[in-house]
Amino acid sequence: MLACLAILIAAASPVSAGAAQTAGKTQNVVLIVSDGLRWQEIFTGAEEDLLNDNAGGSWLPEADLRKRYWRATAAERREALFPFLWGTVAKRGQIFGNQTLGSIARVSNGKAFSYPGYNEMSTGFANDVIDSNEFGPNPTQSVFEWLNKFDDFRGRVAIFGTWGVFKDIFNERRSGLVIQAGWTPPPGQIPPTPRDALLRRLYATTTPLDEEDVDNSFLQVALLDYVKSARPRMLFVGYGETDNWAHQGRYDLVLDSAHRTDAFIGELWDTMQAMPQYRGSTTFIITTDHGRGGGLTEWKEHGVEEKGSENIWVAVIGPDTPVLGERRGGPALVQAQIAATLAAFLGKDYRAAVPRAAAPIADVLH
Ligand SMILES: [Zn+2]
Repeated sequence: MLACLAILIAAASPVSAGAAQTAGKTQNVVLIVSDGLRWQEIFTGAEEDLLNDNAGGSWLPEADLRKRYWRATAAERREALFPFLWGTVAKRGQIFGNQTLGSIARVSNGKAFSYPGYNEMSTGFANDVIDSNEFGPNPTQSVFEWLNKFDDFRGRVAIFGTWGVFKDIFNERRSGLVIQAGWTPPPGQIPPTPRDALLRRLYATTTPLDEEDVDNSFLQVALLDYVKSARPRMLFVGYGETDNWAHQGRYDLVLDSAHRTDAFIGELWDTMQAMPQYRGSTTFIITTDHGRGGGLTEWKEHGVEEKGSENIWVAVIGPDTPVLGERRGGPALVQAQIAATLAAFLGKDYRAAVPRAAAPIADVLH
């Protein structure tokens, strides 16, 4: 996740103010982020110009790659790439950010790289001071840290992310949140089960592609175990691979990791829906921390240099979200709205405590 220090000139304007809170059916919320996954792939599927070795850096033969992800229409391509998102989330919830339909979602932090994005979505506003992924512990409390102080949430709020920097973004030391991040092996049970021991061995013996970012597949095992045993009410899940493979210039693996991330999100949804605590009372918000550039080269990178990196997408599914499917037109949605939206689903008014936080996304709340 490359840091970029320049400042984005275009300012994002905030947006639809909404109801502060709901007293709906949602008792549990999960914010899920696939790092640097572009709206272009979400809404139109694989990009034909990049399905090759030359521009897309693919090691897979072109014919095999096309067989996997190329289809005649955008609707077919995106369903082939994201079967859970389009087969379940969009059919039973809402998805914002298809610019070809005039639906705009974007970051307001002016930077379009990771730490500013995760900060914006989790605190409710952009912080200009955060100008690097190596910034260190976040001075601002997140909505997760805030919720964890209520009696009915204390100890039931957890952060699971592949990227080690989440320990800083969610300020592990100050927040006291449960944080499973990076290559730190998950604690597992005491004494460790054979499954815990195997997972710890894999964490310790796998050669990292990125020393700060563990493979999504390892985190997924720890995540599912934690959900089943600790039953959190508020959860953050961060998957990093989609960003890493783009920076490596491997479009074939961007698509494979995007496809697998979609499956992991579906697996988490199914796992939770099979548990009485979560069935019919859990809302997922699924999004990305930033977009990327376009064309034959700039898809690999993101930031102020790569035009369009401010554009994101946001999907919501849960018992309180009207089924409006793929959104068309409407005011631009900004990433900062996510924090108050998470709280509103749980009946909490985040802006009463943090007035500068952006308004919740009214259309996804009853
Ligand atoms: Zn990156």
